[in-house]
Amino acid sequence: MHIDILTVLPELLESPLSHSIMKRAQEKKLLNVQVHQLRQWAVNEYGQVDDYQYGGGAGMVMMCEPLANAIEALSKNRTYDEIIYMTPDGEKLSQKTANQFSLKNNLLIICGHYKGIDERIRDHFITKEISIGDYVLSGGELPAAILVDSIGRLIPGVLNDETSALFDSFQDGLLSPPVYTRPADFRGWKVPDILLSGDPKKIEEWRHEQSISKTQNKRPDMMEE
Ligand code: SAH
Repeated sequence: MHIDILTVLPELLESPLSHSIMKRAQEKKLLNVQVHQLRQWAVNEYGQVDDYQYGGGAGMVMMCEPLANAIEALSKNRTYDEIIYMTPDGEKLSQKTANQFSLKNNLLIICGHYKGIDERIRDHFITKEISIGDYVLSGGELPAAILVDSIGRLIPGVLNDETSALFDSFQDGLLSPPVYTRPADFRGWKVPDILLSGDPKKIEEWRHEQSISKTQNKRPDMMEE
């Protein structure tokens, strides 16, 4: 899978995408992420990509011209399955959306700044608008990193234990059961006996029951769905 990210702050994306599972995905050539500085398509030699908003009011708006030129230039190299704008008024990111994106070949992600991007870019180029939650951040870079991480770990072969992503919270509409590691007794706090029983069927049943009761307690809204 290839993902292009368009931003005025490429530095903000370097670290989150160059460690741990995202690093491994790229080393294994299962995922290729390229970050592009939007100022390459600035309207003048000062690197301008934003301007005052029509109608007045505080906050700058990212201009049409640099964004349109950047999107068109990048689209010459590949056909994007989706051109995604990270925005608090978009569709809230869910495991289901991440699953769907993980089946695509080419994605372009646009990071906004200031007051956001000129609406005409949204009308004419953007095919998906994604929010990471009902709160406002100062830029789309951290949301883009979250989106890429949620997608990248689902690409087959990225996680060592191929099946492990399948058992994460939300994959089957339930939260994950509790997990434990050594020692079996820490300060008298014991690991549930069943996990030490060596009986895979019983363990699986226990985990499923735990998932259900945890979801009922912590996320009753998910049970209704
Ligand atoms: N004025 C806008 C917010 C702009 S925040 C509004 O009220 O809707 C600046 C940029 O940060 C946005 O363009 C977007 O790219 C990014 N951003 C902020 N919060 C976000 C969120 N919850 N999800 C995704 N992107 C977000």
